[in-house]
Formats: sequence, structure tokens, C-alpha cells
Amino acid sequence: MRAADPVELAPGEELDPLLSDDVVLRADHVSVVYDGDNPTRAVRDVTLELRRGEVLGIAGESGCGKSTLAYALMRMLRPPARLTGGRIIFSDHVGGTPVDVMALEAEELRHFRWRKLSMVFQSAMNALNPVTSLRKQFSDIFETHAPEMRRDDREQRSRELLEMVGIDPSRIASFPHELSGGMRQRVVIAMALALQPDVVIMDEPTTALDVVVQREILDEIERLREELGFSIVFITHDLSLLLEISDRLAVMYGGEIVEFAPSAQVARAPAHPYTLGLLESFPDMRGARRQLHGIPGSPPSLAEEVAGCAFAPRCDYAFAPCASVKPRLGERSFLAGHGAAIDVQGQRASRTWSVACHLHDPDLCPAGPPQELTGGDRAGDAETSTEEPGGVPDAICGEEE
Ligand code: ADP
Repeated sequence: MRAADPVELAPGEELDPLLSDDVVLRADHVSVVYDGDNPTRAVRDVTLELRRGEVLGIAGESGCGKSTLAYALMRMLRPPARLTGGRIIFSDHVGGTPVDVMALEAEELRHFRWRKLSMVFQSAMNALNPVTSLRKQFSDIFETHAPEMRRDDREQRSRELLEMVGIDPSRIASFPHELSGGMRQRVVIAMALALQPDVVIMDEPTTALDVVVQREILDEIERLREELGFSIVFITHDLSLLLEISDRLAVMYGGEIVEFAPSAQVARAPAHPYTLGLLESFPDMRGARRQLHGIPGSPPSLAEEVAGCAFAPRCDYAFAPCASVKPRLGERSFLAGHGAAIDVQGQRASRTWSVACHLHDPDLCPAGPPQELTGGDRAGDAETSTEEPGGVPDAICGEEE
């Protein structure tokens, strides 16, 4: 892979190479393009931080760039994919020297992957080689990434790993087709944990499994995380699943992050209309009954450029600036303009909440966003209101057009 081009920053913006102590991995203004006749800008200026020990969820519809971002974080992009800008910085312990992942040479990168950062791929069901035994596949990992390990140690460690994910070590001689889907998934997770990485990126790790097996695997992942202390980037289109398992989450749309917040806060108070749309697309298993709304239209083509907000054509709340002014992800404060501050587990919600939406920009929308985007009780609103979403913002923000 070629080195990243210099990062283009907005005037006055600075690239901070240092990580705060609680951050293990950070993507700084990462952009990826698939080259071709019609280049596709699959990841657009994405910045996010993964804290030590947390599960960071990345949600969004298929095709919004989640997997491409995951591959970029692992530095595993292959042509026609090309990193066009940004940095990925990693720090395995508090006080350690941050590593610029993009600057690693081939040998350093081989050492880095699997030991520091590993990945459970989207196609985990097919990620195993069908014609070699589990023993050989575990052994290949150790030979490649830990060549100093002796043969006996490799065998012992492989058995331990199988046991760790609830598979009888005697299955080490099995071939993948002799295992159930859930077992294969467990094997893939065991492989990702083989060298005790600090971070595991999981790309749709349970999507192909039935709900019962999915639940078992999620419980297993949570148990392993508590036991081993690694951090997880968990990628899925299933927002309801992420709300349950992640500490914080980033919502992607059209290659960009449009909202980044603690998951508990997103569940109670989505700030971006797209997040609200996703939440209203599935039933709440615990809350009051409410009407489900899909999101009209379809996602944008990432081969095209949009002048304003990429979500505007599908947004019930779009007002004039959305068509022409690009919203930038910025930390906004409910306290600053809109009154409805929310406490999430004792933390002021405004501290870690970012959204890219003009409704939250006091300059463009001085009256503030509609109540359902500031922490209104979504379930309650749906039960009592006969009003369709969409009428409110024009009445509020349209005044200044
Ligand atoms: P997600 O993981 O959210 O489903 P992806 O990262 O797989 O999204 O894809 C993002 C976009 O990148 C897609 O819309 C697709 O058009 C484009 N893309 C993905 N893989 C390729 C490829 N190999 N060549 C060209 N374009 C691609």
C-alpha cells in the first residue's frame, strides 16, 4: 500500500498526534477512495477514538463505508482501495509512545497485526481455509506472527484458545466443514485473540448466525473482553444490537460519521435525523409500543459529490442550508442553546456528544432542533402524538430562511 498523502485540514484546524491516556486507537481525518473510472469516496474524513477496554460500535446501512474503514484501521486496504489522507495512531499502554500505523514498515506491520490489532472479518463463516485442519490454521498464525514460538507451545496455545471459546480442544484436528456455523465463528474469534491483541475489530461477526447462536457468541465476546481486557470496534448495520453491546457508537452515513455519542444517550436522545430514522426502523423490545417508520429513499452514491448534507434528500427535517452547506461533525452542547441537557450515568451528555447536523447549529437554527432530536421521550411521543415527523422544523428553523 502506498503511504498516505498529506492530510488536508480546514483552516485553523490542527492534527494532534498525541493520544490521551485512555485512548488506545485513533483515526484522524481518514479518507479512502476506490479508484476507477468513477472513483468512490467510501470513507470521508473520519475521525474517531477507541478508549481502552470499551466497545465502540459503528453503525450504518450497507454500503456506507464501515468495512472500508475497518480495513483502513488495520492497514489492510488493497487496490483499487487507496488511503488518500489521514493517520491511524495506536498506543498499547498508558504513557507508551504512540505508533503511527501508516508509517510502519512491512516487517513492523507484520509484528503489529494480530499482536496489537486483529480482526474478525465480515465473512468469518468463510474465513477459514476449508482444506486444512484447525491445527494447521492456528499454527500458520503463530509461524507468521510469532516465529519464535516452539512447535509444542504452538500446539498447546492452540488448544487453550479453542477451550477459551468453548470448543473441546480435541477438535483441533477437525476441518471447518465438520463444525457448525457457531463453532466456526468461535474458532475465528479464537484466532483473532491468538496473540492477545489490545484491539479487536469485529466486522459483522454475527450477521450470518441465527439469533440464538448470535446471542451465545455475543455473550462469549463480552466474557472474553472482561477476562482479557481488549478493546473492540464492533461494526454492524444492526443498530439495536449495538445499543445493547457498545459503550459508545458512531453512526456512519455516506462515508462520514454523522453522530458520535455514548450508546445509552443515542438510545434515549438521538441527535441526528438519520440516527432517529434508524431507531424508528426497529421495535423497542423493552419500551412502550410505538409506530415504526422506515427511512424513505436510498443511500447516496459514494461516487458523487454532494454540496450540502448527504442525508438531506431523505430527511424529514431538512431546511434551506442543508442543500448547500456541508455539516461538519462538531461537539455541540445541548446546554449551549437548546435547554434539554441529559444525564447519562452521571455524566453530562454534552461532554462526549458530536453530531453533523445543521439543526444543532445555533447560528443556522437558532430555535434549536425539534424535541425528538433533543431527548424527547420517543416512545411516549409516538403513543400520544398524531403528528407525522417533518412539520416541526420548518416552523422552527424556516423562520430565518
Ligand atoms: P459497508 O461495510 O458499510 O457495507 P463498504 O465499506 O463495504 O460498506 O463499502 C463502501 C462503498 O465502497 C460501497 O458503497 C461500494 O460502492 C464501495 N466499494 C466497496 N468495495 C469496493 C471495491 N472493491 N471496488 C470499488 N468500490 C467498492
